[in-house]
Amino acid sequence: MQTLKKAFLFTLLFAVCWACTTTKTETEEVGTMDQLAERYVKTLLRLGQYDSDVVDAYYGPEVWKPTGEPIDSLPADEFLAEFKAIQAQLQAQDTTTLAADEMRRLAMFKKQILAAITKVEMMQGKNYSFDEEAKLLYDAEPPHYALSHFDSILTAIDKQLPGKGTIAARWDAYRARFEIPKAKLDTVFKAAIAEARNRTKAHYKLPANENFTLEFVTDKAWSGYNYYKGKGYSLIQINTDFPIYIERAIDLAAHEGYPGHHVFNVLLEQNLVDKKGWKEYSIYPLFSPQSLIAEGSANYGIDVAFPAQERIKFEREVLFPLAGLNAAEADRYYTILDMIGQLDFAGNEAARLYLNGEITREQATDMLVKYNLYAPDKALQRTRFMDKYRSYVINYNLGQQLVRNYIERNGGTDNNPGKRWELFGELLSNPNTASMLK
Ligand SMILES: [Zn+2]
Repeated sequence: MQTLKKAFLFTLLFAVCWACTTTKTETEEVGTMDQLAERYVKTLLRLGQYDSDVVDAYYGPEVWKPTGEPIDSLPADEFLAEFKAIQAQLQAQDTTTLAADEMRRLAMFKKQILAAITKVEMMQGKNYSFDEEAKLLYDAEPPHYALSHFDSILTAIDKQLPGKGTIAARWDAYRARFEIPKAKLDTVFKAAIAEARNRTKAHYKLPANENFTLEFVTDKAWSGYNYYKGKGYSLIQINTDFPIYIERAIDLAAHEGYPGHHVFNVLLEQNLVDKKGWKEYSIYPLFSPQSLIAEGSANYGIDVAFPAQERIKFEREVLFPLAGLNAAEADRYYTILDMIGQLDFAGNEAARLYLNGEITREQATDMLVKYNLYAPDKALQRTRFMDKYRSYVINYNLGQQLVRNYIERNGGTDNNPGKRWELFGELLSNPNTASMLK
């Protein structure tokens, strides 16, 4: 995840001028994709003045940024007119002359513009159902599960956990043994990131100057965030509001860093922005199909860099000792974590019911405690994440499943890790959306 904190300045005068220019687009000739990319980026940057989550990262031309303050209320109709004008011109592209990679570019661009239109409509107050929103914003069709699907998994977890009481309470008590002491967070995370980076660099040629800064922060709706700044540099933040358990070291190192968000952004910048000049990739709109690929690949990237057996070995030999934890318990802990991972889609069911207005926040919290084994305060925090990011929640687990299926279907299986790295690298370096992976 990422947010853009800086609000751009935007004068009323500039807003009025821009409004004038956007109404004449219907009579324009069909622009090239490069021209449309420039209009798209500039318009998204302006939209970002009204919602700081809209633009997750931007490292394109400085002069494309709006220079004044936004006007008081969202000029939604003007944004819609401009995005729809770009959409119409994308539809009108002469595809007979396009090379295969440009066809892919066009296909993805059309989906990104649909998401931009949908986002403006939602900012305007339009309500979409959870599934409609997921389709329009993320090009995805979230699966539906009956809650009974998760009961057998809960029973199996029940058998593994020591002690008495509810499964969630026993899990909470058991996992306390695996909390990384605050004083050791920095050491443990740096070790995990260094390993994730070495493993990734053994397979990908990253720019020599690629780098990141790691910060520990508080009071956030997320657990970790990568702010990509361009030119191979990221700021990675880790939220310490809640206890951080040992598995988060590799999860976050790979998800936010290597080969997750940081590497994804580095490769997009290198291959699409710098080499091909496709400027629409110099902006990362959070509420767009790109996010499903970003979160899905960041999650699957954990397994690419640390296949199960290699991971447990590294945990036992390096991270558990660094954190001062009992490595003899690592196997059982990871077995249970794996089972809990199978409950992940239950969280989507809670989000769907809650966001569709079918259950209250309290009921959603209870569902997350029962089916995802969240501690009650953490479950409450998760509903706040749902308020803010809504159907974005599907990007993590559905995205991961789609990316995994795509890579494995094409030969990147457990017994062919070289092929897996290769396919994964291609996926990170080219336009992709959920439906394009099918
Ligand atoms: Zn993420």
